[in-house]
Amino acid sequence: MKKLTIDSFRGKSVDEIKKTIKKNISAADPKINAYLEAFDIDKFEQGKGLLANIPFAVKDNILIKGMISSCASRMLADYKAPYSAFVIEKLLSEGAMITGRTNMDEFAMGSSTENSAFMTTKNPLNEEYVPGGSSGGSAAAVASGMCAFALGSDTGGSVRQPAAFCGIYGYKPTYGVFSRRGLVAYCSSFDQIGVLANSIEDIAMVSSVMNDKDPYDLTSYLDRELKELGKIKYTDSVFKSGIIGVVNTFEGIPVSPEIEASYKKLVGELRKMNLEVVNISPPFLEYAIPLYYVLSAAEAASNLARFDGVKYAFNKRSASYQKLLMKTRGEGFGREVKRRIMLGTFVTSSGYKDEFYKKANRLRTNMKKSYDALFSNIDYMLLPTTPTPPFKLGEKIDDPVAMYYSDAFTTFANIIGIPALSIPYDTDPKGLPIGMQVLSNVKRDVDLLTFCANLVRKLK
Ligand code: GLN
Repeated sequence: MKKLTIDSFRGKSVDEIKKTIKKNISAADPKINAYLEAFDIDKFEQGKGLLANIPFAVKDNILIKGMISSCASRMLADYKAPYSAFVIEKLLSEGAMITGRTNMDEFAMGSSTENSAFMTTKNPLNEEYVPGGSSGGSAAAVASGMCAFALGSDTGGSVRQPAAFCGIYGYKPTYGVFSRRGLVAYCSSFDQIGVLANSIEDIAMVSSVMNDKDPYDLTSYLDRELKELGKIKYTDSVFKSGIIGVVNTFEGIPVSPEIEASYKKLVGELRKMNLEVVNISPPFLEYAIPLYYVLSAAEAASNLARFDGVKYAFNKRSASYQKLLMKTRGEGFGREVKRRIMLGTFVTSSGYKDEFYKKANRLRTNMKKSYDALFSNIDYMLLPTTPTPPFKLGEKIDDPVAMYYSDAFTTFANIIGIPALSIPYDTDPKGLPIGMQVLSNVKRDVDLLTFCANLVRKLK
């Protein structure tokens, strides 16, 4: 299986690139099911710009004008996007070529891509295993040479976790680095678009193109350093000035022995480098999952209220509005989405909102303060990306809580808005990939990418 980087396409003609992509998609996708729809790339005309003719795939919750954006839901199965997401406009303006829409968990809710209403994506490294989720289609496409890079969305780990499961890199930036205009909202205060690729150089290049202040997303901002990051600087000085926090034990989080062994191995390697390694205990980490599921469900229930059978294409005509609503939602949403809407409605209902929603918000504020204090003493933090290696298809689908714990190490970054990068580091005894995650404080994305690129080069 050939992994493609942006550089591997440089100097090739647009026709050669199209041929490679079509060949790789027809060889791999009938088995993997990464794409909900592979586009007719023959229609693409020669691109101009920093990403001229570079093929990329798009998670199906990011709008591409005139194309279907289904969020892998029956609810939006025929919905055509009236405009393109801000980040799509940016990539197209630099000449990149869209290869298609990738499969995902419905409305980005899930960790295995098994919650898609349409099909199940398989892990390209072993088809009995899940590719992770919810951006599993994007991760599988990148890992099997069906595009150079892909966009995903990360609300609680959905870029980093599938990247780890498919043996590639996954970057979730500081909240606001990429505009969310044109990303279908799940939990607006956590959602960030992210990049999946085969190298950190590629992530940096794509991010420099996508970052900008968008007048239609007031949470977005221009990060001048990131915008100007043409090439990563390779220098030992990033180690001399950086302090990295590592953990001794994973308190309150069940971690599999393979992950623990890999983590310890990496910490050992870090200690041998000219780098200051300190022990930390990440504050409130064991509460991240319950906190995430209270707040994300609350926002999801509110965001998904728009799918009422009136405003969007899918509807079940009925005698009354009440019946229309019930039938449209009953048939349009899948099991997991309904579960989140019910949970979100419950935690915000009168009589319970103080106990759940408000309490979770207070904890979120405390978490932010505690991590800010922690990051005044360290520059980076190292954690595994996931508590277990990839699991088998069907293994966790009937146990939602076990599924939720796939994100035990990722959700807190969304809760406090910090950047994080998942790096393919190791393999388990079955040969399946293990990812490690480096995190930093808000707005330190360029330092994070530079540090990680240097680290990866050193580890080789
Ligand atoms: N797995 C988490 C969830 O189901 C995270 C999803 C995401 O980041 N979109 O909500």
